[in-house]
Parts: sequence; structure tokens; C-alpha cells
Amino acid sequence: MANNASWHRLRKLVHLICFLVFMALPFLNVVRADIPHQRFYFFGIEFWINEFASIFFALMFLMFLVIATSVLYGRVYCGYACPQMIFSEASVLLENWLRRKVGLNKNTWKVRVLFYSTVAIGSVFLAFIFISYFVEPRDLFHSLASLDIRTAAGISGATVTLLTFLDFSLVRQKFCTTVCPYGYLQGMLGDGNTLLVHYRDEPKQCIECKKCVRVCPMDIDIRKSPFQIECIHCGECIDACDDIMARLKKPGLIHYTWGEQGERLNDPAPRPWYRRVGLRDGKRVVVLLLLTCYAGGLTVAFSLRHTVLVRVAPIRATMYRVDENGRVFNRFRYSIANRGHGATSVILSVQHLPGATMSMLPNPIRVAAGETAQGEFEISTPPHAQTELVTHFSIESSTVPDQSRDTFPMTFLAPSERQAP
Ligand code: SF4
Ligand code: SF4
Repeated sequence: MANNASWHRLRKLVHLICFLVFMALPFLNVVRADIPHQRFYFFGIEFWINEFASIFFALMFLMFLVIATSVLYGRVYCGYACPQMIFSEASVLLENWLRRKVGLNKNTWKVRVLFYSTVAIGSVFLAFIFISYFVEPRDLFHSLASLDIRTAAGISGATVTLLTFLDFSLVRQKFCTTVCPYGYLQGMLGDGNTLLVHYRDEPKQCIECKKCVRVCPMDIDIRKSPFQIECIHCGECIDACDDIMARLKKPGLIHYTWGEQGERLNDPAPRPWYRRVGLRDGKRVVVLLLLTCYAGGLTVAFSLRHTVLVRVAPIRATMYRVDENGRVFNRFRYSIANRGHGATSVILSVQHLPGATMSMLPNPIRVAAGETAQGEFEISTPPHAQTELVTHFSIESSTVPDQSRDTFPMTFLAPSERQAP
């Protein structure tokens, strides 16, 4: 598998796919947190910020996906999918390409100007994509088109553009070893069975060509240790050593291995499928089970979700009110959130409370798309209709056009006949 720069080719292909995905996610609302509108998008479904269960399961699922990937496959995310790494390497490639094109292998002003100008244009583009994860892209485009640096969107756009420019012109991979917490988190999540890049040279065949060091994007020597915090498990050194040793008609000395002691990733010895994909102990099974639980929780939260969320609650500042005719009144509060894309109407009705009428309520209640309607209403019963202090009944909501119904168990309070003098 590892001959002819195969990890490098695979990695560059994955980089291209991840770049396209990184650009598409906010525009297709696959994952996006719209802060100004207080919405969270997950695979095209719009959640309101108060839909705690769905957002909780979505975030926990994403977090455990990262944890499971790290426990099983080490820093595969850093080496293959992280936008910081993808654009840092692109920035280094661009600089080297410009040097070759201009024909001078030196840090001339011409190369510098061309390089910084290109990175500046790229930074505007990348900052736009990045902020689109948090702000509606059309609103952001208007801010950008009007060169707005007064509103919150304009100021954050200018700040992120500046940081992106500094990052990809100066910091690059140093970010991974100084600022990024994921590399350090990996040190805690990995164990003796986690996939890593390992130099194995028991027969002492290394010819000290140092090609593995020259190609390393993190400027380290993998021969010193497989546990260097800088190593992003990219596999570039594997290809380099395979290439050199192939010329000597010998196998390469660097491999992906399951831990320091485990077999190689491409070990030809027959092994059960679960060991070949990294399921090598109970800890990994537990991590995958937890991931499955969160996926299940997310599915249940999705299936229980109503486009129109109706809430009804009693107001108990005063227990009840009796008018001059002896009718007993209880006060209630409603809140209707229309999370759909079209207008909706909700009808509230009283069940199992004989003689009851509702007042102060525009019934049906119309709610425009994306809006929330709130209000109060009263339910009254004829004099002496209740003989107990507390009568259990229910309020039913029926929503058109999606025909969903909800029932809210309630209590009606009235002066008790038994307590009357
Ligand atoms: S590329 Fe292979 S042979 Fe060359 S120094 Fe590195 S480990 Fe040794
Ligand atoms: S040591 Fe090898 S796997 Fe680690 S970062 Fe360098 S090239 Fe990539």
C-alpha cells in the first residue's frame, strides 16, 4: 500500500474533498450556528436555540465522533482533514511555487509581494467561509460588499480576515504545536492500541538519507520517537522512506502501526475484520457504543420534534378569580413557536371541564413562519360547577396545516364547596 507515494496521494485527495466540504457545509446548512438569529442547523434541519435536547445530542454526537476517531486512529484528523493543516500546507506550497516561478531561490521583494497579496485575497475568501458558519451568508455578503467595518458582522469579518492572513502567512503549522488544544487532547485519548506512525529498524538498515525528515511538514525526525506531540500522523515520511528503500530493493522502515508494539496497518497476516478496522479492546467498543447511543438519542429527538412548538402553562400569581355572577376564572399563558417555512394556525380547546369557556384568546392563533406568538387567556366555569378545590382537565392544541395535536394536562382551581361556610 505504501509504495509510490500512496499516502501522499490519498492525503491530497482527502484534502481536496475536505476543502470542498468545508466550503459547502455552511451554504447547505449541514452544520451551522446562526448566532444573530439564534438558530442551529444540522443536516438541513433548523433547530431553535431553545430545542435543547436536539442540540445537545447533535453536539455530543459530533464530540464523540472526534473522540472515537482519536482513540482508534490517532491524529488522522490533523493529518488528513483539518482546515488549518490544509491551508498551512497550501500556503507553503504557494510560497515555494512562487519562488520557482519567479526564478530566484531567494526571499526577494517580488516573491514577498506576490505571496502576501495572494494570501490576503485567500484570507478574505476563507474568513468569509468561516464566518458563514455563524452568520447568514447573504447578510455577510452585504457587509462585505459595502465594506462595512462598523456593525458586529463587519468588525468580526475584518478581524477574522486579519487573523487568517497572519495565520497562513506567518504562523502556519506552528499553530498546531502551540495554540491548538487537539494535539494535547490526543495525548490523553490515545493508548497502546491507537494507530500511529512508527519507525522500525531492527536489522539497522537506515542509510541516514534524512528524506523522512525533509518531507515532514512538522519538521521532526520520526526516528526519535513515535510519540512526538508535533507528529500529525500524515504518513509523508512513510512514503519518503519507502521510495528511498525501494531503490535499494528493501522495504521501508516507517509504517502505520497499531500502537508501539502492535502489528502494521497493512500487515498481510490474516486477522479478524474488527481488529483490522481498529476494534482491538473493550474500551473501543464502549466508545463506539456511546457514539451509537448519541446517534440514537439524536434520531429520537428528530422523530419527536414538532415543526410548531406549542406550550401552555397556568399563571398562579392568583389561584382563581370569581366575578359578580359567580363564574370562576383561571388564567393561563401560551407560547407558539412556528419553526417551519410557512404560516400556521393553532386552535386551543378545553377538554374534560364541563361548561368551561375560553376568553381573551384569538382562536385560531395565526403565527407567521419563523415567528413566536405569546399571550394569556382565561378559562371560566359556571358558578358551583366544581365541588373540589382542584379539578383535573386538559387543553388540546391542534395545528394546521401539519395536523399535529398536543394535549396538556392542567388543573383548574375553584373555591371548594366543602370549604364554604
Ligand atoms: S528515509 Fe528511511 S532510510 Fe532515510 S533516514 Fe529516514 S528512515 Fe532512514
Ligand atoms: S513524522 Fe511523519 S507522520 Fe509525523 S508529521 Fe512528520 S511526516 Fe507526518
